[in-house]
Amino acid sequence: MLRTHTCGELRKAHANEKVVLCGWVDTIRAVGNKLTFLDLRDRYGKTQIIIKGKSDLKLEYCVQIKGKVVARKNINPKMPTGDIEIQAEKVNIFTKSPSLPFNLGDKNIDEETRMKWRYLDLRKENMQKNLYQRHKIIKTLHEFMDKEKFIEISTPILTKSSPEGARDFIVPSRIHPGKFYALPQSPQQYKQLLMISGFDKYYQIAPCFRDEDARADRSPGEFYQLDVEMSFAEQNDILNTIEKLFIEIVEKVLSNKKLTFEKFPRLKYDEVIKKYGTDKPDLRKNKNDRNELAFCWILDFPLFEEKLENGHYAPKHHMFTMPIEEHWKFLTKKDAGKAKSYQHDLVLNGYEIGGGSIRIHKAEIQEKIFDLIGFDKEDKKYFEHMLTAFKYGVPPHGGIALGIERAIMIMLGEKNIREVVAFPKNKAAQDLVIDAPSKVKPLQLKETHIKTDKK
Ligand code: ASP
Repeated sequence: MLRTHTCGELRKAHANEKVVLCGWVDTIRAVGNKLTFLDLRDRYGKTQIIIKGKSDLKLEYCVQIKGKVVARKNINPKMPTGDIEIQAEKVNIFTKSPSLPFNLGDKNIDEETRMKWRYLDLRKENMQKNLYQRHKIIKTLHEFMDKEKFIEISTPILTKSSPEGARDFIVPSRIHPGKFYALPQSPQQYKQLLMISGFDKYYQIAPCFRDEDARADRSPGEFYQLDVEMSFAEQNDILNTIEKLFIEIVEKVLSNKKLTFEKFPRLKYDEVIKKYGTDKPDLRKNKNDRNELAFCWILDFPLFEEKLENGHYAPKHHMFTMPIEEHWKFLTKKDAGKAKSYQHDLVLNGYEIGGGSIRIHKAEIQEKIFDLIGFDKEDKKYFEHMLTAFKYGVPPHGGIALGIERAIMIMLGEKNIREVVAFPKNKAAQDLVIDAPSKVKPLQLKETHIKTDKK
């Protein structure tokens, strides 16, 4: 390494040591012609440096400082390294920098500017902290899932468009003229197929793509899910696993947060709607407390949405959700509205952070659901592979998926999902750093058999 220590590391005990630090000039102040004070910054913190005489360093230059650690007379209690400073002996400028398009300390930078200069915006202490916390949460999650014997399996990114859910992103095929892949909205079908393969505890931090508009709690275009599926499991097993996971994350990573409920309340959909007028109740005792986390489960959902769409039922969750056994008798055009399902949603501080269900594992029930939601022959053909696979000894199974960014946003007390994503799209679904979406070369269009009327 080009350094001996990081900028957050040195303490009084290091006094008199010769050290080398690398980082960016965070602040700089000349005292007459005699001395220059600067704070050098890296991911780990800031350290005060004293340079003799005038310096030609400027803010955000990337530099290496060799020098001696000295104990400070005027201790700065606000800085973890405030006991010491470095008397610079040698200053090596790696690279210079013009003044940044905004001041890193400014709290009111407009969103478009932040997104365009995201790699600089990420230098801010809060963004460094959030991305580090995100890393710790995900690391804890992997450790937990491994401990619980889940195996992580990656599923395809180039997959197939299907007639449900949100709008797909489609990708033209070069080899098959006129045909398209779709980016997955979730790995739902693959994870159910993996149950048929015998991987009884699957998980994945799955990239998901949905062509939906942006919201404060939703990134346009893409997001990650903690995707989970279990065989030979009852609904309780899924809820208990996820509950244990979140408790472990709070204990290990978010020790300043407190859980409103050690045991997440399990509430019935009908009762919650009646009592709170929403199926995403905020159960915090103090709604202004950024450190309070109130998780709850919502259960006993109706299988279908209340209103018929074009004379057909629309699944409340999705078409693979199992109706409870006692209500199989309601799977008729007349009565289907009465059927309850094994859906479960996880709610945190008034946001839905995840949902899932016990799945249908019997082909005849799946067919009935397809009919009730008005699938014609062609729609059914889309799912032929599922119906075929379901002939080969399907285990009873169920699962859940949790929106990683949304959960982390709430757990960290942020109000916008962009605060926990390194390179988010803006509200118009553009990546302003690299300028995407963008035009492609005419040859690329030709090779993928695409004609567009936009020049
Ligand atoms: N695939 C579902 C979703 O993305 C979640 C699940 O049922 O596991 O909403």
